[in-house]
Amino acid sequence: MKIQAALAFASNGPLSIEEIDLAEPGPGDILVRVVATGLCHTDLTVLANPQLPWPALFGHEGAGVVEKVGAGVSKVAPGDHVLMTTASCGKCPKCLSGNPSYCANFRVMNMSGGRCADGTCTHNHNGKPVFARFLGQSSFASHVLAGERSVIKVDADLPLDILAPLGCGIQTGAGAVLNTLRPRVGSSFVVFGAGGVGLAALMAARIAGCTTLIAVDKVASRLELAKELGATHLIDAAQGDAVVAIREITDGGADYAVEAVGVPKVMEQAISALGLGGSVALVGMAGAEASVAFNPFLLQNQGLTIKGSIMAGENSVPDDFIAQLIGYWKQGQLPVEKLLRFYAFNDINSAIRDAQDGSAIKPVIRLP
Ligand code: ZN
Repeated sequence: MKIQAALAFASNGPLSIEEIDLAEPGPGDILVRVVATGLCHTDLTVLANPQLPWPALFGHEGAGVVEKVGAGVSKVAPGDHVLMTTASCGKCPKCLSGNPSYCANFRVMNMSGGRCADGTCTHNHNGKPVFARFLGQSSFASHVLAGERSVIKVDADLPLDILAPLGCGIQTGAGAVLNTLRPRVGSSFVVFGAGGVGLAALMAARIAGCTTLIAVDKVASRLELAKELGATHLIDAAQGDAVVAIREITDGGADYAVEAVGVPKVMEQAISALGLGGSVALVGMAGAEASVAFNPFLLQNQGLTIKGSIMAGENSVPDDFIAQLIGYWKQGQLPVEKLLRFYAFNDINSAIRDAQDGSAIKPVIRLP
């Protein structure tokens, strides 16, 4: 079938909306008409990769309505409303132990471009294969072909444009706190970076019952939003040493920290900001070559924990966790809409620009 897709023809774009050919859903595939899709920094990171085979189709916070299902699909039916998330194999030890965010086959399932074993491709532009099925989706398009494990059925009366970012960014920030760190009620929490992931982490820490909630950022408007979302203390990272300020506020160091910037120096600050027995989750993506220094003596003597976290985090399945997050949203505890700025599909390059310069925290593109 013919679909509309915002293709990248070269590293760093711009994207161009083109008519492309999409294969019929194969066994286990679900065809979803996209209603809205978030734009995430991972889209921009991979868009900047000069090594990809072009053209490429990104987008991985899609939400929409099921149009058709392939053989063997029983999870959803045409007409169902769905959010989408990354793909997982369902067969490796991590998937089988309820940790699909750490699927052993993550790379091949999410980052291989969707090429089939026989060399044919599900997405083609003028007869040329498109690098697609990105992070289980490629949702910068009118339609997505997703696997059964990437779709999460939601009630039809929910706003898909508001909830689309639950598939990645919001899930990642909230998952780092609620599933990976699991903070104690009454504890102190600091987030470095008040972007979409960081603010989701902050809202989750409040839900978890942390009573000292510190946000660190360099942008005043983001700190103001952090305050609106429950931060009890704001630290302007451009003004002085954030670690000293955190130690003062928490009387010696934070119980829990999330780094959502993806900068090694900030990760080192997040580790240094911990108090006795503190735990930090590193969530920001610093690149495959990055390295972070820490003092093992301090880790030993203070009983510190450093963890990484992606997507739903530890011991969590997106189907369950996204339902949980929707529950918090309904109760007003996870007001995702405060983070969003909406764009029309044909204005997708403005969304990219505003995400790059930081003027939009979480752009969401609405499909016509
Ligand atoms: Zn797996």
